[in-house]
Amino acid sequence: MPEVTVPLGRKSGLPAGEHYEIELRDLHKSYGDNEVLKGIDLDIALGEVVVILGPSGSGKSTMLRCINMLETPTSGEIRVRGQVVDSRPANLMALRREVGMVFQQFNLFPNMTVLENVAAGPRYVRGMSRADSEARAQQLLTRVGIVGKDDVRPTRLSGGQQQRVAIARALALEPRVVLFDEPTSALDPELRGEVLDTMKSLASQGTTMAVVTHEMSFARHVASRVIFIDGGVIVEEGDPAQVLERPKSARLRQFLNKLE
Ligand code: ADP
Ligand code: MG
Repeated sequence: MPEVTVPLGRKSGLPAGEHYEIELRDLHKSYGDNEVLKGIDLDIALGEVVVILGPSGSGKSTMLRCINMLETPTSGEIRVRGQVVDSRPANLMALRREVGMVFQQFNLFPNMTVLENVAAGPRYVRGMSRADSEARAQQLLTRVGIVGKDDVRPTRLSGGQQQRVAIARALALEPRVVLFDEPTSALDPELRGEVLDTMKSLASQGTTMAVVTHEMSFARHVASRVIFIDGGVIVEEGDPAQVLERPKSARLRQFLNKLE
């Protein structure tokens, strides 16, 4: 028998040399004395839609923000396709290209037009020509259903439209993974559906996504896996039916009951 070497980072279920899109290992994050993340282990595979649930203050945003280094973890390891992530500037640039993010408050650039918001990444990060970056932005805006708004300032749009522009912008650098932090929480209920439909369509096209949300219907029907975080640890995880219909812990049962 030839000797078989197992590459570092190999996980059961993945062929040798292949990696998850995202791997978190014993991730900790403290703000002063406040330990917010207390050892998170999480793998996100290609094409997975991972929905993250948890009470307010449980560390959901902090975890997402650590994944693309908007926050620096206190300890632990983050790998993106097997590459260890750290906060060196060259790594950060590469990381932000691979991991897109959509925020609750959209965070669009108010002084740019809709088209410029989406074209800016390809133009200034990728060095695409103006014409190419704008053509690409137009394709993405069409994909999220925003047509005929190229020259408008984002604040002239409805919240649902702004969030769809933000999704187009997050897709502009062709990230491998898109993180969503409560993307519909700032929207009036009647505008949530259009954003959820856009996300659903991304999911059906195989986009790898991690989504913090309280939208139970999205969790139930779109998630490939649901994770429940409480007090900075993952308390439960599994397929949506298992986690949502047959919660094991009292904490999760209580959380789900409050949502009904
Ligand atoms: P969630 O998104 O689950 O509501 P967060 O990750 O936003 O929770 O916050 C978890 C905890 O971390 C909270 O206690 C919050 O006050 C604290 N926290 C978050 N961001 C900061 C920060 N920049 N500085 C200090 N404390 C923070
Ligand atoms: Mg949050």
